[in-house]
Amino acid sequence: MEYHDSAKAKEVAGRVEDFMEEVVLPREREALRTGELISEKELHECWEMAKERDLFAPQVSEEYGGQGLEFSDMLPSFEQVGRSLWGALSIRANAPQEGNMHTLEMAGTEAQKEEYLRPLVQGELQSAFSMTEPTDGGGSDPKMLRTTAIKDGDEYVINGHKWWSSDGYNADFLLVMARTDLDAHPYEGTSIILVPTDTDGVDVVRNIPHLGGHGIVDVSLGHAEIKFDNVRVPEENLLGDENKGFRLAQLRLGGGRALRHRIATAETELHGARTMVRHAARELDESDARIEVAMAKMFTANVTNEIMDLAVQCLGGNGIGKDLPVAHFYEAVRPFRIVDGADEVHRRTIARHAFEDVDDSDMQNVVQFDPALDETA
Ligand SMILES: Cc1cc2nc3c(=O)[nH]c(=O)nc-3n(C[C@H](O)[C@H](O)[C@H](O)COP(=O)(O)OP(=O)(O)OC[C@H]3O[C@@H](n4cnc5c(N)ncnc54)[C@H](O)[C@@H]3O)c2cc1C
Repeated sequence: MEYHDSAKAKEVAGRVEDFMEEVVLPREREALRTGELISEKELHECWEMAKERDLFAPQVSEEYGGQGLEFSDMLPSFEQVGRSLWGALSIRANAPQEGNMHTLEMAGTEAQKEEYLRPLVQGELQSAFSMTEPTDGGGSDPKMLRTTAIKDGDEYVINGHKWWSSDGYNADFLLVMARTDLDAHPYEGTSIILVPTDTDGVDVVRNIPHLGGHGIVDVSLGHAEIKFDNVRVPEENLLGDENKGFRLAQLRLGGGRALRHRIATAETELHGARTMVRHAARELDESDARIEVAMAKMFTANVTNEIMDLAVQCLGGNGIGKDLPVAHFYEAVRPFRIVDGADEVHRRTIARHAFEDVDDSDMQNVVQFDPALDETA
């Protein structure tokens, strides 16, 4: 498939591909095979190699230590790093650092770029983006944002509660979304403020236990819960213009009814599964109930998986986090489609049964190729 990428994009992507093949993927395969994680030292060595090959931090301008690629020219390279579990990290283009660098470069003052962006690009500092808040704060609906940053003299005083701040546990500074004009609509009264994590009143509570996320690089990442209790930062820490923090307005919660339809379907499927299991159990009293058991097993395993996936989706961050048992259940039900006979095996049994009593005479009205005209015969 030809996507008409620019010559520059193709040339860089070719070099990224070589880097993946020669350096990144072999080490990844070894880590997966042996369980030996990639150390922080190895990661830094990898960054040096990426710098030598002019591949490091493609999203940042050369002035701040990156490659200064246009967004469209980066995409083919991002496809290449996407082939590896640590591909983006290996060239310092991983989330959320990549987005934070981009935001700082777009909106930061010269002083902010020197203090935060330059060392961030080099990996001397780490950052996190703190927007999402626990229930009933801002999540999918940003209008519910409750964290505030109120001006007091030449300082902002921040109070609030965030969670799911990726890389927040080890971050040196945070980009915090907070309401700076309580009288305005949140879209018009929210700002992004740079907050060093060693500021008094910043409490990085914990890394949230969650589904997945066991990386192959031995650096502590994760997603943090963070509290802000009368945190004071100078007004110079405002990133961009005051009250213009909401670049990413999200859709209002309007899908509740849709969601209800999906739950109705899930309830119906669960009823179907329960009924099938009961029927198979009754049949088992009389025979080996081979087909009924295969159908019940395959259907129930799939329905359970789909419904646990829906439950995770409905709960958003709480579905992935492990404060609730949903993520544990989600993990636990996946083997159902494999243990006691994989889906495919049961399907084969059921299909064989379905074809057992085919009556060829049913096909007699189907027009057949006239043998008299068949030169190939
Ligand atoms: C791995 C991970 C990393 C993250 N990293 C960051 C980060 O670095 N910084 C940060 O600030 N946040 C981060 N988040 C938080 C993420 O942005 C939120 O989880 C997401 O915005 C959903 O918000 P919520 O968890 O509050 O769920 P809720 O807003 O409570 O939504 C729950 C569910 O309700 C349904 N729903 C909600 N709104 C709608 C709608 N409009 N239409 C239809 N259905 C809807 C969806 O099914 C949704 O999943 C991260 C989350 C995860 C899981």
